[in-house]
Amino acid sequence: MVSFAFTEDQEDFRRSLADFARKSLLPEYVRRSSSTEFSWDAHRELAKTGLLGIGMPEEFGGTPDDPVMLGLAAETLAYGDVNVAAAPVNIGLIGSQLLHGTREVQEEYLPPLINGDITVAIALTEPGSGSDASGLRTVATPEPGGWRLRGEKTAITWAMNAQAALVYAREPGSERSRGVSCFLVPLAQEGVTASPTLGMGCLPLGWGSLHFDDVFVPENHLIGEAGLGFHAVMNHFDFSRAALGLLCLGAARASLDEAARYAQQRQTFGRPISDYQGVTFPLAEHETYMEAAQALCYKALWARQEGLPHTALASMSKWWPPLVAKDAIEGAMRIHGNLGYSAEFPLQQRFRDVMAYLVADGTSEIQKRIIASDLLRRVGSA
Ligand SMILES: Cc1cc2nc3c(=O)[nH]c(=O)nc-3n(C[C@H](O)[C@H](O)[C@H](O)COP(=O)(O)OP(=O)(O)OC[C@H]3O[C@@H](n4cnc5c(N)ncnc54)[C@H](O)[C@@H]3O)c2cc1C
Repeated sequence: MVSFAFTEDQEDFRRSLADFARKSLLPEYVRRSSSTEFSWDAHRELAKTGLLGIGMPEEFGGTPDDPVMLGLAAETLAYGDVNVAAAPVNIGLIGSQLLHGTREVQEEYLPPLINGDITVAIALTEPGSGSDASGLRTVATPEPGGWRLRGEKTAITWAMNAQAALVYAREPGSERSRGVSCFLVPLAQEGVTASPTLGMGCLPLGWGSLHFDDVFVPENHLIGEAGLGFHAVMNHFDFSRAALGLLCLGAARASLDEAARYAQQRQTFGRPISDYQGVTFPLAEHETYMEAAQALCYKALWARQEGLPHTALASMSKWWPPLVAKDAIEGAMRIHGNLGYSAEFPLQQRFRDVMAYLVADGTSEIQKRIIASDLLRRVGSA
């Protein structure tokens, strides 16, 4: 028997977050999103709900792992502010890796991460390697007591506000995914330079580049096993990709609700525009696509929670739902006429913010490669 219902706990959680998203986040979304300042106040408010600690050890203020709950949080909060709502996804991804760090690293970084006092970036992409992530060139050269890091990371979310970054670097002479390790690198130290990159949206996320110029990393800052860092991060992307699909759909949900309300108020030729099929059919189409896309994302997160294979489902959730969301927001903008294009309204802002997720965490083309190779392998081995 299949059930599409959330548990009572999940419903209670969703209701309280929906209230927070509508009352505390939505009214200030346009103002916050026009600034490159990280929204620390909103981030700390979010931390008070406890959701930045999902999947983290209880001794540091965390609660048991629950990918569905994290997806629910991303979707529900994105109704109010898609940038603030990215935090549970990013921290879910970063925290799950920090769990493989040493005791010292966990004690130092997990409590403030969960309390909303710091952010930690994830630095994989480089100027010469994005989709082809295992082609990274940043080098970690062993030396007594640790390593020296040299290289550049680019397009990094939270580069400008993070206290530290998970940096992927390879041992000298290694190739592709072999020999890549993950290091926790504090960013306020000699040899590290952070420089901002202005995107078309997501401004408060502090997007930018990180340069590492012979930066010393002590032995106890290795995360997970030496040489196996690449495979570990790929596993965690299977969670964040499904959650990012829901993040985009939350922003689209707000946009479509606004469009449906507006269509009933706006009159042309003596009638509300909701009387015209030219307006209601697009609403119906976006509503249908969004329903299907949402179910896909939750199926991926449910499969992860149940320990079932979900890599292809996660990739499906990353290529299609952000596209569905982007199209729905565009549709909502069109129904609003000139107001949809106005910078005073949230629609154009959501459009620019959601566009980021057609690329971040792996482009649509890369997701399709993963889905197709899963299909070919399955059919080939049948
Ligand atoms: C808003 C935002 C936030 C980001 N945050 C982070 C972050 O926090 N940390 C981080 O490490 N990175 C981050 N990234 C980087 C992101 O992961 C990369 O941009 C992405 O993986 C694509 O890499 P690229 O930009 O180098 O494009 P490329 O890999 O150069 O790709 C260029 C184009 O070629 C296509 N392409 C490439 N290879 C193939 C192929 N084999 N088949 C078909 N098409 C192909 C791609 O789909 C794309 O359309 C972020 C990016 C954005 C936009």
